[in-house]
Amino acid sequence: MRATVLHSPGDIRLDELPDPDLVDDTDAIVRVVASCVCGSDLWPYRGVNAGSKPTQIGHEFVGVVERVGSTVSDIAVGDFVIAPFLYSDNTCALCVKGVHSSCVNGGGYDGCQCELVRVPWADGTLVKVPGNVDEAMIPHLLTLSDVFPTGHHAAVSAGVTAGSTVAVVGDGAVGLSAVLAAKRLGAGTVVAMSRHEPRQEVARSFGADHVVATRGREGAGEVKEILGGIGADAVLECVGSADSMKQAFQTVRPGGTVGYVGIPHDVKLNLPVMFFTNSNLHGGVAPVRAYLDELLPDVLDGTIAPGAVFDQTLPLDRVADGYRSMDERTAIKTLLRP
Ligand SMILES: [Zn+2]
Repeated sequence: MRATVLHSPGDIRLDELPDPDLVDDTDAIVRVVASCVCGSDLWPYRGVNAGSKPTQIGHEFVGVVERVGSTVSDIAVGDFVIAPFLYSDNTCALCVKGVHSSCVNGGGYDGCQCELVRVPWADGTLVKVPGNVDEAMIPHLLTLSDVFPTGHHAAVSAGVTAGSTVAVVGDGAVGLSAVLAAKRLGAGTVVAMSRHEPRQEVARSFGADHVVATRGREGAGEVKEILGGIGADAVLECVGSADSMKQAFQTVRPGGTVGYVGIPHDVKLNLPVMFFTNSNLHGGVAPVRAYLDELLPDVLDGTIAPGAVFDQTLPLDRVADGYRSMDERTAIKTLLRP
């Protein structure tokens, strides 16, 4: 099969690799219908936490089940499925608690910006989409493998409920998803912090009531002014840099919560400030599987259309262009079709 391989920082290639095979009788082999490039794929692409040998890459995909192991019973050949970006058995003590991202039998795929993926624990991991899947629905379903549930996790972690005031730090696909997720949960006022016109537009289409283009203390001041002078009840930190976390704590009100879902890189917390303002930090890697039963129906009935985060679609043989445009921020998020 053709598969995306990161050879060294900046060197993405589509290579010919052996087709994956069933290994355990709980596995499925899924033929990828669509995959995409994640902001977190850009870290190794840029040489941060990169491995020393060529590695298959990608973790977000939807597809059609091609083969199943002998004990797989809930998923069948021909099913159109959403693959959460981590696999999980959905039965262990941690899955039962809703922390599928820490499943005792869980882990990550060998990559998915390719044609075929081996999915361990197929019954626990894959979520079947009922009925015929319309072509136009594919981008929206694909967001459910990572980016939209991750934005949702930021909002849930920050305690967003009906009427909450919310600020979103980060205007990548996760930040934009967080805007949509906060509105879906009933947020009263949502302020998106973004300096980029096309991203501001998506944020507004997802329900952002205000856009603040300035950053730092000044940007936080503008958010506070919009939100009655005290800052946001919930700040959704969707980047993971030292600057974005600082921005989040400058913007949250005393007693409020920062929900963070950006993979932290060199982030330092100021505990004395958190102590004296009673501000909270909650979040982490999204347990995507835990949220899909709730989120999928809203996508299928058109209540939300999270696929608007994709502004570039490329055939898999142009995957290197997809990485480049996301790295240079000329694309918000790139969808790949094998
Ligand atoms: Zn588990």
